[in-house]
Amino acid sequence: IRASFLPFKIDNDKTAGIVCVFEDVTEQFNLEAARQKFVAEVSHELKTPLTTIRTYTETLLNGYLDDKKTAVSLLNTVQTETDKMTALVQNLLILSRFDMQRMDIRKSLFSIDDMLRRLENMFRLEAEKKGLELTYNRTTEIPAIYADQDQIERAVKNIISNSIKYCAKGDKIQIFAGSLYNNVYIKVEDSGKGIPKADLDHVFERFYRVDKARSRDKGGTGLGLSIAKEIIESHGGTIQIESEFGRFTRVTINLPMAKEN
Ligand code: ADP
Repeated sequence: IRASFLPFKIDNDKTAGIVCVFEDVTEQFNLEAARQKFVAEVSHELKTPLTTIRTYTETLLNGYLDDKKTAVSLLNTVQTETDKMTALVQNLLILSRFDMQRMDIRKSLFSIDDMLRRLENMFRLEAEKKGLELTYNRTTEIPAIYADQDQIERAVKNIISNSIKYCAKGDKIQIFAGSLYNNVYIKVEDSGKGIPKADLDHVFERFYRVDKARSRDKGGTGLGLSIAKEIIESHGGTIQIESEFGRFTRVTINLPMAKEN
């Protein structure tokens, strides 16, 4: 609580009283704390790959340039770390556009079914390489929705790639879609490692990861689910996650049916 005191005078000099103002500044305080935490996290996320790049280039310049095998391996890591930073910066730009309310939403009528068939084909190979089975099934007819196709696709891609990241050989990833009442739903369910109960409420927070090292290793930025949430909510939809540690994870998106407005 912030208190301010303002004396007020009459006849120019005599103090007639004091006005006390008590303000509840919890919200500003929380916003400032959140901002500071965010800056610290971004700096840390950038520092890790930068340190690797610096060390590896130094090693190269200190005599490994002629050892072709080592040089290629070091340069490959430099490239991977650079890609990670690019992914992080791209995700940060998306979030900052949402924060500043400058994200253009380009809506059109499109078929969720066609989009999911395309994504199934796009991800199948990557899943198969890891020994995972990926399927898509339409449970009911799905009417067209009026939304920003690129953005909805980005949200769903983030969710499917999480399932791929956090599943191991032999696991299954099932995508379902259908319509219910005035909504179109998309479910992505996997039989992977799951999320402990205590972490489940936090996974939509920026930079929250259950296992930091593992996520980073797999190219995760810790921003995928928070971006998906911004996108779905800005379309008037909802996104939920259910999981049981060691058993399954299910993410459900609900979007309102086409309403051209
Ligand atoms: P990341 O880039 O780290 O994957 P996300 O925001 O997409 O970040 O997800 C946040 C965290 O939630 C992940 O780091 C991971 O710990 C957990 N998570 C998300 N999806 C799954 C899943 N399908 N299975 C297990 N854990 C998951």
